[in-house]
Amino acid sequence: MNPPPEREARDEAKFVRVRGAREHNLKNVDVDIPRDALVVFSGISGSGKSSLAFGTLYAEAQRRYFESVAPYARRLIDQVGVPAVDSIEGLPPAVALQQQRGAPSTRSSVGSVTTLSDLLRMLYSRAGSYPPRQPMLYAEDFSPNTPQGACPHCHGLGRVYEVSEKSMVPDDSLSIRDRAIAAWPPAWHGQNLRDILVTLGYDIDTPWRDLPRKDRQWILFTDEQPTVPVYAGFTPAETRAAVRRKMEPSYQGTFTGARKYVLQTFATTQSALMKRRVSRFMVGQDCPSCQGKRLKPASLSVTFAGLDISALSQLPLARLMQVLAPAAEGRFAREEKAAPLDRAAARRDTARRVAAGGSAHEGARDVRRTGNLSEEKRIAAQRIAHDVIDRLKTLDDLGLGYLSLDRSTPTLSPGELQRLRLATQIRSNLFGVVYVLDEPSAGLHPADGKALHVALERLKRSGNSLFIVEHDLELMRQADWIVDVGPDAGERGGQVLYSGPPEGLRRVVASRTGHYLFAEPSPRTRAPRSPSGWLKLEGVTRNNLHRVSADIPLGVFTAVTGVSGSGKSSLVSQALVELVSVQLGHEAALPEEEGDELEATPLGITAGHIAGGMEAIRRLVRVDQKPIGRTPRSNLATYTGFFDHVRRLFAATRMARSRHYDAGRFSFNVAKGRCETCEGEGFVSVELLFMPSVYAPCPTCHGARYNEQTLQVTWREKSIAEVLGMTVDEALEFFNDEGAVQRPLQLLQDIGLGYLRLGQPATELSGGEAQRIKLATELQRAQRGCTLYVLDEPTTGLHPADVDKLMAQLDGLVAAGNTVVVVEHEMRVVAMSDWVIDMGPGAGNEGGRIVAAGTPAELSRAVESRTAPYLAPLLD
Ligand code: ADP
Ligand code: ADP
Ligand code: ZN
Ligand code: ZN
Repeated sequence: MNPPPEREARDEAKFVRVRGAREHNLKNVDVDIPRDALVVFSGISGSGKSSLAFGTLYAEAQRRYFESVAPYARRLIDQVGVPAVDSIEGLPPAVALQQQRGAPSTRSSVGSVTTLSDLLRMLYSRAGSYPPRQPMLYAEDFSPNTPQGACPHCHGLGRVYEVSEKSMVPDDSLSIRDRAIAAWPPAWHGQNLRDILVTLGYDIDTPWRDLPRKDRQWILFTDEQPTVPVYAGFTPAETRAAVRRKMEPSYQGTFTGARKYVLQTFATTQSALMKRRVSRFMVGQDCPSCQGKRLKPASLSVTFAGLDISALSQLPLARLMQVLAPAAEGRFAREEKAAPLDRAAARRDTARRVAAGGSAHEGARDVRRTGNLSEEKRIAAQRIAHDVIDRLKTLDDLGLGYLSLDRSTPTLSPGELQRLRLATQIRSNLFGVVYVLDEPSAGLHPADGKALHVALERLKRSGNSLFIVEHDLELMRQADWIVDVGPDAGERGGQVLYSGPPEGLRRVVASRTGHYLFAEPSPRTRAPRSPSGWLKLEGVTRNNLHRVSADIPLGVFTAVTGVSGSGKSSLVSQALVELVSVQLGHEAALPEEEGDELEATPLGITAGHIAGGMEAIRRLVRVDQKPIGRTPRSNLATYTGFFDHVRRLFAATRMARSRHYDAGRFSFNVAKGRCETCEGEGFVSVELLFMPSVYAPCPTCHGARYNEQTLQVTWREKSIAEVLGMTVDEALEFFNDEGAVQRPLQLLQDIGLGYLRLGQPATELSGGEAQRIKLATELQRAQRGCTLYVLDEPTTGLHPADVDKLMAQLDGLVAAGNTVVVVEHEMRVVAMSDWVIDMGPGAGNEGGRIVAAGTPAELSRAVESRTAPYLAPLLD
């Protein structure tokens, strides 16, 4: 674009001047962006906002940083690549706060991400109350993730997994022949174990419950592995006779007890499917030694304010501030002399009272451990407590006061995680830095948006610049400056349409953003649809929900609203999903992901039941924002099933047939066709001293993923790697007469993802993109109706123009006789829904109720609802 007209008048020194940016789809862009300002990069999904903000500005800042700190990093920069741009002047050092892509490790928690846990450990180590004669512990002794601190029984996991007779034999009226032992392996292997039992003389035709206890115990729990002759196909009587006559057996078989089989398979199998299968027979329970607190007994005996460190870490942050306040102000209660007999019970009692909102310092009875502090300890405690409170305040200001320190990060939404990191940055007192952020408003109710704005302003006032990729119209209005990228996605985007104060965007006709930013609220075009029935949930108890009853209308589109932490996800993504899948009798409806299910899906935590409406639901589909794969191996092409068709096309070419290449040869997951250096990933990971490791293109195949021979095979003159390099839009044209290939592509295009490359690794996709890919995959299936679709914030990452496309798809699902329930913050979507359920009124303990439910018009008049004031203006 041409430099804006007011350029001459500007103080040149206050701008970052970008010339000739060409990263990804950027069209040789020139743009001047003010420093020390709140700048929003806007544009539809795929227009090039991230390519400019992250791919160009942040990448260049990082490159300069590498160069300055470590000369050896040259090699690395060469590998990672230099952004395609002629020049950038006036660029300060940059810090990126991107939404997490891929999955973080389960062991990270709110406390570890914010480093608050480190401070608390120090507090307990230096200033905790120790039982008489117990030596002082080091800070590491209070961490379950160190060998010194971990509970020796569960190795710091807090849970132990075991099998039971009930879990392995769910139906004890069956005989072994009728597969009473559900935990046994399927098919041939299971039959083999059964035949071995026959040789060993066990009765396999009597119902399980009528077998002698001794036999049942041995079959399930023995560690012995006898090897015996097996006579395949013989009846028990024939087997006995054959054993007696020492006949030649069919083979020698080795027995494995069911427990041994399950635990061993779980620990060693490479197959996610097998792991998942056997995990169904395992039951998790709190570790009996630490009661789930993950620490060794000595560490748990140290208290502060009457609580052990684990109890303290379970408190909501807002509550934790109150508990630490007296210590921060140097007020320490005096020691209570008579220690109660049952210390553990008393501790639990205090914890419960504190969690319920009382104070640990209320009344002399509670003050039993903090008082006996030496003067040094007091000073240490006061300093640390003060520091902790200061940091907690920032978190509370950002609307995160309902979280607790022990909350594991995989259970947080990407938006919550980003705000956590933001809060950590606010405390870091850096200045003269550019923060580059990715949709910080994600997951925020409009009522929470103010706190976010305040936090951003605070960073700015400390002398920093904020470059934000954002779709939220309110945040755009509050920005000092907007850089609007577009007009469309991919090839049809990549230009800067406008760069200036928000108001000026009004005059830019080509901008889709301007259209939404200044549009008058449009009246609804259709009346809410009437439900065909109601799904009735009763007595739902989960997280902050207590015995909640909820009626969910069937055959319509429902939005569930409420401030962040009010309980929307607990009700919809957790309780509703679990209760319905139990009724449908398939655990399979739970998140369709590989790996750590045991940690990730604590089953059966929801209490409650469905009191009616299930007859109208035959299927449950949850479309969430979890990554569609955890390694660069899964991508759009593999996930949608599109790649299977393409591989068959390649295998059918003349060259492939002459070389006997089958479809498997064209998979980068199979050894014969892929590049061996990177094993088909296209990337190798480069380990850096003191820095997170980075992925660099594979030096052998340069990202192609395949070996030389495989790449020689072409279909319409393109190799398989070149096909993976195409965008959806390009592939649609390329495969224009291949119906089976086109269908999944067409749906991806319809849903606004035409700009994605087919081989783009799943780890590079945003949560919103992953969700839309899942949706497109689902839409591919036949429309049978009677399906309940559950979506958590489907508009994340979507420009208002993309939201309209998504809504059209979801409306189509409703029109086909299905039910759609979404958790949503975007008021335009709420206004377009048929029914609204508003949760709250506040977060955590101050929420967890249904404040109001009704049509959007009814809800906008609900007095207690915090959503109503934001919804009403859209309905006038
Ligand atoms: P936005 O942030 O506006 O959603 P992006 O900057 O992510 O858009 O994408 C702009 C264009 O660049 C799209 O066509 C996208 O497919 C392409 N693109 C994004 N990331 C890459 C990448 N790593 N390699 C090649 N192309 C990319
Ligand atoms: P919303 O979806 O409205 O933002 P959530 O349902 O995620 O709210 O959270 C409601 C309350 O339940 C909060 O206090 C939150 O900290 C708690 N919570 C949510 N999920 C979990 C979880 N997996 N483990 C522990 N607490 C949780
Ligand atoms: Zn334990
Ligand atoms: Zn390679």
